[in-house]
Amino acid sequence: MAIPFFKEIKIGSYLVKQKLLGRKRYPLVLMLEPLFRCNLACVGCGKIDYPDAILNRRMTAQECWDAADECGAPMVAIPGGEPLIHKEIGEIVRGLVARKKFVSLCTNALLLEKKLDLFEPSPYLFFSVHLDGLKDHHDKAVSQKGVFDRAVSAIKAAKARGFTVNVNATIFDNHPAEEIAKFLDFTTELGVGVSMSPGYAYERAPDQEHFLNRKNTKELFRKVFAYGKGKKWNFMHSGLFLDFLAGNQNFECEPWGMPARNIFGWQKPCYLLGEGYTKTFKELMETTDWDSYGTGKYEKCADCMAHCGYEPTAANAALSNPLKAAWVAIRGIKTEGPMAPEIDLSKQRPAQYVFSSEVQKRLSEIRADEAKAAADKAAKLEAAKQAAPATSASTAA
Ligand code: SF4
Ligand code: SF4
Repeated sequence: MAIPFFKEIKIGSYLVKQKLLGRKRYPLVLMLEPLFRCNLACVGCGKIDYPDAILNRRMTAQECWDAADECGAPMVAIPGGEPLIHKEIGEIVRGLVARKKFVSLCTNALLLEKKLDLFEPSPYLFFSVHLDGLKDHHDKAVSQKGVFDRAVSAIKAAKARGFTVNVNATIFDNHPAEEIAKFLDFTTELGVGVSMSPGYAYERAPDQEHFLNRKNTKELFRKVFAYGKGKKWNFMHSGLFLDFLAGNQNFECEPWGMPARNIFGWQKPCYLLGEGYTKTFKELMETTDWDSYGTGKYEKCADCMAHCGYEPTAANAALSNPLKAAWVAIRGIKTEGPMAPEIDLSKQRPAQYVFSSEVQKRLSEIRADEAKAAADKAAKLEAAKQAAPATSASTAA
């Protein structure tokens, strides 16, 4: 395993502590998005469709550290946008590592080789390189030729410098199981761990045709895992989450386990859905109507099996029922036979489309901030101008 033993121990003890404290909802991984700007435009991406005024915004290093302190999760994943575009990314990561947070820096790797000097290898730092499949598949997914080769070259360079590197793959329905299996063989040859998640059906993604529904997700992952029997693919997931992907667990999503903080604030209810923002983490936990989200409760959650909602559920299930987790570890992922019953969708509430109004609200705030900054600057200049003759006069006297 690429995950150091002490990381598992530290996260395990964090989970046990939350249980002992009797907390019903607590964060496991902070999803920190310090910017939305990216240097790619993938067809399945729902994160970058914003006006320039929003894409140009950045969270400061201090805001990133404050978010980590406020939330208290033992792990921080930094997706984006592309975090390596952020001018303070080295400083942000150093500050998080100094706080003993496990940091997973997610990157498309276009800038990784060039920026490796910004970082130091540490058991607390992992690069998680976006790689959706083998060369042709990946280059098509990111809509640019040559990206796969650059990512693989960057992975090798980072590993040679002593960094731990994983890859993260988003899976869509145009990816045959056999090809996914070959991709996983390739990651084993590269010596990297893998995290995989079915693509969430972002309403703003350019390609709306290739998102997987839950039935297809389970069937696809069953086929993939069947190809993997006897192989040593190094997944960065719990066995129970993989078993869930293969349709053998009927988990409900626990979005508070991976709360998202971005340039707008704390995002309700999760990293995938932006249906409102709060200023503080406490407010997010206390004012989100958690019971109104999740598969079977809300139309936009109907097809979701993403790790950011269900990996926390799997982690909690392993803690509450270690025998079940041990049994899955012994028997392996079940790829045949009946699946766990699917969640009933008949009572889910209809989707609400709040994206445009949220963006307009944020744009107004940005414009107000900019107008205030310009007025402050003008006032300072005016004050300096007024002070200048008096100063020169007093010097002359
Ligand atoms: S690399 Fe990631 S953030 Fe950038 S466009 Fe692709 S999916 Fe979106
Ligand atoms: S099911 Fe959970 S993780 Fe998925 S979109 Fe809904 S709230 Fe978010």
